Amino acid sequence: MSTLVFLEHHGGELQKGSLAVLSKAASLGDDVAGVIVGTGLDGLADQAAAHGAATVYVADDPKLEAPLPQPRVDAIAQLVGEKGIETVLFAQSILASDIASGLAARLEAGLNWQLTDIANGEGGLVGKQSALGDSVVVDVGWKSTPRIGLFRAGAFDPSEQPAAGTVETFEVQLQEHSLAAEMVEQAHAEESGPSIEDANVIVAGGRGLGEPEKFSLVEDLAKALGGAVAATRAVVDAGWYPYSAQVGQTGKSVSPTLYVACGISGAIQHKVGMQSSKTIVAINKDPNAPIFEFADLGVVGDLHQILPKLTELVQARRNG
Ligand SMILES: Cc1cc2nc3c(=O)[nH]c(=O)nc-3n(C[C@H](O)[C@H](O)[C@H](O)COP(=O)(O)OP(=O)(O)OC[C@H]3O[C@@H](n4cnc5c(N)ncnc54)[C@H](O)[C@@H]3O)c2cc1C
Repeated sequence: MSTLVFLEHHGGELQKGSLAVLSKAASLGDDVAGVIVGTGLDGLADQAAAHGAATVYVADDPKLEAPLPQPRVDAIAQLVGEKGIETVLFAQSILASDIASGLAARLEAGLNWQLTDIANGEGGLVGKQSALGDSVVVDVGWKSTPRIGLFRAGAFDPSEQPAAGTVETFEVQLQEHSLAAEMVEQAHAEESGPSIEDANVIVAGGRGLGEPEKFSLVEDLAKALGGAVAATRAVVDAGWYPYSAQVGQTGKSVSPTLYVACGISGAIQHKVGMQSSKTIVAINKDPNAPIFEFADLGVVGDLHQILPKLTELVQARRNG
């Protein structure tokens, strides 16, 4: 068993990104294991088995309840030592990024991040990674084991791959320093409708909205279309919209059927997160905005006039 996938979970479900990385790893041919850490983990191993896990290592311990990285570094480092694991893979999230970097430091191992794909090469595993501001895709490898890989959000979709899913419980030998951090509070943003990772339709807002209150125009259209709201980094950094909605190089990668970009210039760092959308519609008052170079449909005009009318028309069509 040489590949281990960290399986992140929330609310009794394994995260879609973790399942996607797991099924991708299983598709490469070798037996793949998953590791699940936390408390109240019933049913999660079955989800892992359905997506290609031959073995599922489960550490169920109240000390592991808070989603803190260091105890998970302890758990994975222990498995790497005991089970001879050569590759550890993660789906990108804030927690997974912390664990992957902590694990790399602990084991003095190589970490390739922002991977978009992985395959068996002649000399071992080869990852794909965007470089030079996402203008080229390069092959990346590892010089030693364990290899650690962190995949971009949305790099793959999960696929059903039934496997044995043999459960092995284990007790994590926690390092003293790993218990030094304490989770004081966890707050969950109130969200309605689909998440941007799952949505078929995304309406995204940028600095062209002019002020944070105008995000309601984007939200109204998204609601009428049954879609989710996304944002550029410019508006997220300005505090107009939550970080979780950011699409792009340092945000999420999405590939909906329809992406409506409102008041977004189309910077390369935004483009790389949404360019695989099936149909891109851009609304921008500047006819020379870069987004028109890769939009399927471009509307030159003021979004403050266009969005309310568009929302009205969509609602009328839905109702009629
Ligand atoms: C290392 C790095 C990583 C980055 N990562 C990301 C990332 O993950 N995601 C991301 O989005 N960005 C990212 N950026 C930032 C990126 O370079 C751009 O600055 C950002 O995407 C611009 O956001 P914007 O399109 O909202 O704003 P702007 O570039 O300011 O564009 C606003 C647009 O709105 C139009 N507009 C203005 N008023 C109206 C109106 N009334 N009606 C219609 N259109 C109007 C304007 O013509 C303009 O084209 C990153 C940058 C760096 C350096």
